[in-house]
Amino acid sequence: MQRLTKQYIDNQWIESQGQRRLAVTDPYRQQPIAELTAGAPADVDAAVAAARRALPAWQALGGERRADYLEAFADALVERREALMRLSVTNNGKALAEAAIDLDDAIACYRYYAGQARALEARQGRLVEHAMDGIEARTYEDPAGVVGLITPWNFPLVTSAWKIAPALAAGCTVVFKPSEVTPLPEQAVAEIAEAIGLPAGVLNLVHGDGEGIGAPLTAHPGIDKLSFTGSNAVGEKVMRAAAEGTRGVSLELGGKSPILVLDDAEVEAAADWVMAGIYFNSGQICSATSRLIVHESLAEPLYAALATRIDAIRLGDPLADDTDMGPMTSARQRRAVEGYLAVAADEGLVAVRDARHRELPARGEFVAPTLYRDVPVDSRLWKEEIFGPVLCARSAASDDEAIALANDSAFGLAATVISGSAERARRVGRALRAGSIWVNSEQLVMPEASWGGFGISGIGRELGPWGLAGYLEVKHLIGPAD
Ligand code: NAD
Repeated sequence: MQRLTKQYIDNQWIESQGQRRLAVTDPYRQQPIAELTAGAPADVDAAVAAARRALPAWQALGGERRADYLEAFADALVERREALMRLSVTNNGKALAEAAIDLDDAIACYRYYAGQARALEARQGRLVEHAMDGIEARTYEDPAGVVGLITPWNFPLVTSAWKIAPALAAGCTVVFKPSEVTPLPEQAVAEIAEAIGLPAGVLNLVHGDGEGIGAPLTAHPGIDKLSFTGSNAVGEKVMRAAAEGTRGVSLELGGKSPILVLDDAEVEAAADWVMAGIYFNSGQICSATSRLIVHESLAEPLYAALATRIDAIRLGDPLADDTDMGPMTSARQRRAVEGYLAVAADEGLVAVRDARHRELPARGEFVAPTLYRDVPVDSRLWKEEIFGPVLCARSAASDDEAIALANDSAFGLAATVISGSAERARRVGRALRAGSIWVNSEQLVMPEASWGGFGISGIGRELGPWGLAGYLEVKHLIGPAD
């Protein structure tokens, strides 16, 4: 069994200072596949010191040269694509086809930020248009400094790419802590940094859990900015830690996103988009459209179309080509979702489909794809992020009622609108309070567009130029023109 006892610091693999050991498991085979050392504050100290030493030269290298490293990073991911897909499946439980989408997303992200690094260099010293005679004003964008990046387990190599690529493009140096649940695919980030000859200290990877590495990293005074993706509970702790020393923070947190099916929608196409929005990655998606709001005239045919599709989902070995949905990523997450199913039973929710409608595979942390209808707005399942394959539906009598229902949430990460008229769907989309809104579409994600939420779904935006801006400080030089 693999033992992950080393941290990648200053381009060296160094024994972790931590003593505690954590099991890393395959959620389908329900077996430990590796053992991880939980890390310790001394590991964070060493990583932050290395990143601090590396910062001036990495910044001075300029965007063009940094872009070359980012392209090399993408190339290395392409070379390792198949192996990393399998590692992601084994460690995370997602179906192989979904792991392929993840790898392609990560590769595109590193390439995109190579382009952004070049564009950054090209615009350094840009003249500012203004009204003062004889005065010249120029802007520069400097790296925010040493950044601490913390990611969850649901999209290994993706959530990390969305942080590491823009941070490196900006000229920041990085201390990266992946989730202790999925350290195996994320380990590749350090292996690739080593393979492409990234200068020492630019990218440091420290394995461990929240106690061993996460909290010490967020509290470290040598970190200039924190970027965190994960749960709201931990996100609030990260923000509190960042307040000490007035350090910057970006947060990508949870969601309870709506999908609206308007009265002129085509039911079969709508059913396909509803399915993709909730059952992908076994529902462990921050942007899962887990609240279905359907016009009352279409509710019955839509529920029927969804039931047919749910029955057709093939649960099983995520490495098998004929598997559509793998297990939950951990026993802990399965139990968390089952807790919500128990609440649903207590609340008397009506299941169109749940575990009673199918046999689960003999092994694996599976939860049956579930659909509840007519869910009351005060149900915990309507309000809270479940992070599993559980769709809650209710109907609305008008677009306005659907919009009001959709916006009645403290979260605001994503939404989908489905209508026979693209213009009407866009109009409804504009009225929604969310960062990503898909219109007659599955959840397409591209590195050029933004990602992030309104309300308690987070602070700041990843991807696109906004993702880069999160790792930059703007500097203004003003004086008499020559
Ligand atoms: P989590 O908050 O439990 O853990 C996230 C990371 O934080 C892990 O690396 C963990 O080790 C670390 N951590 C734990 N305690 C910490 C502490 N005290 N200080 C610092 N770090 C600490 O989340 P999770 O269960 O891994 O992921 C699921 C959550 O992530 C869901 O709520 C989901 O919505 C969210 N998520 C959001 C996005 C987004 O883009 N908005 C993307 C993916 C996941």
